[in-house]
Amino acid sequence: MARFTLPRDLYHGKGALDALKTLNGTKAFVVVGGGSMKRFGFLDKVVNNLKEAGMEVMAFEGVEPDPSVETVMKGAAAMREFQPDWIVAIGGGSPIDAAKAMWVFYEHPEATFEEIKKPFNIPKLRNKAIFVAIPSTSGTATEVTAFSVITDYSTNIKYPLADFEITPDIAILDTDIPLTMPKTLTAHTGMDALTHAIEAYVASARSDFSDPLALKAISDIYDSLIDSYYGDKNARGKMHIAQCLAGMAFSNALLGIAHSLAHKTGAMFDIPHGCCNAILLPSVIQYNAKVCADRYATIARMLGLTGNTDKQLTDALIDSIKELNKKLGIAQTYKENGVSEELFKQHIDEIAANAVLDPCTGSNPRKIDAEGMKKVLTCAYYGEPVTF
Ligand code: FE
Repeated sequence: MARFTLPRDLYHGKGALDALKTLNGTKAFVVVGGGSMKRFGFLDKVVNNLKEAGMEVMAFEGVEPDPSVETVMKGAAAMREFQPDWIVAIGGGSPIDAAKAMWVFYEHPEATFEEIKKPFNIPKLRNKAIFVAIPSTSGTATEVTAFSVITDYSTNIKYPLADFEITPDIAILDTDIPLTMPKTLTAHTGMDALTHAIEAYVASARSDFSDPLALKAISDIYDSLIDSYYGDKNARGKMHIAQCLAGMAFSNALLGIAHSLAHKTGAMFDIPHGCCNAILLPSVIQYNAKVCADRYATIARMLGLTGNTDKQLTDALIDSIKELNKKLGIAQTYKENGVSEELFKQHIDEIAANAVLDPCTGSNPRKIDAEGMKKVLTCAYYGEPVTF
């Protein structure tokens, strides 16, 4: 039996934050990150809209990038004190991810990370509160996904949480918010979204429900990412919606080894997640094409790329991704991105071994072992073709 789960409500478009005025409740706990949402006035708007809905509001500010276990526990304790019936998270991926985990420990103080990190092992939520997510960047799509990543800095272990229990109830995609994103962040998050859509379209858990979402996301990202990068308002809005479509697809279809390797190389070489995906995607498509070139060919045909065979169409897709990277100022290889050969060789075995264990590896269309990971990564490092 397969399952397909999304938030119950999506409010989208210009001024969508007004949806908060229509919520019924008594207490809202707002989780926010480092300050840009406050600086641009969006935090005030959220708080005022919730007050207009008749709620008492408490703001929990300062969630750091890659949120920690401590922040989650602090937030959960503040929630237990305040007893909200609404949790409203606003920001890039991190405050929303952190708020999802706070929600679990608010409703289940006895739970432990060891238990809830097991996939689909989060106890029932929504006994105390329901969850609203408002993304400020256009990439992670955590506002519609069943995932959250929390870091234990004392052991340097990342806990990837995965359970439809933490899929938000309401996502608000206000297209005014991503207008504030800096250019490089727009490029990286946009390529993260493209990787989500392409990996979801070929992933082993793909379905008739996720496929159209993935294809529409890919098409819209190709149409709007470059203009969005240069600050075009309409394109920024279109990307905000497209990344969400990609999220709806991958939350259910899951991902593949571009993400497995991006998770490990991002941490090791200190390169943003979306940038790692952008560099890896061409090599990963070449590796996976042995088993799903027909799927890549479908994407290429939809994009109007030309070729007479699945192989030619897949190659055209790969070339178009490299071209996109170039236009967005993203390096073609890890080497070009400034990772020294010495550092790369020192860590490649460890990265490959850890990438095999990453939760995204299981849903990759073509199976892979540590040796295979090492070879794909080497190709992405030097920009060599994947021929195995
Ligand atoms: Fe991602």
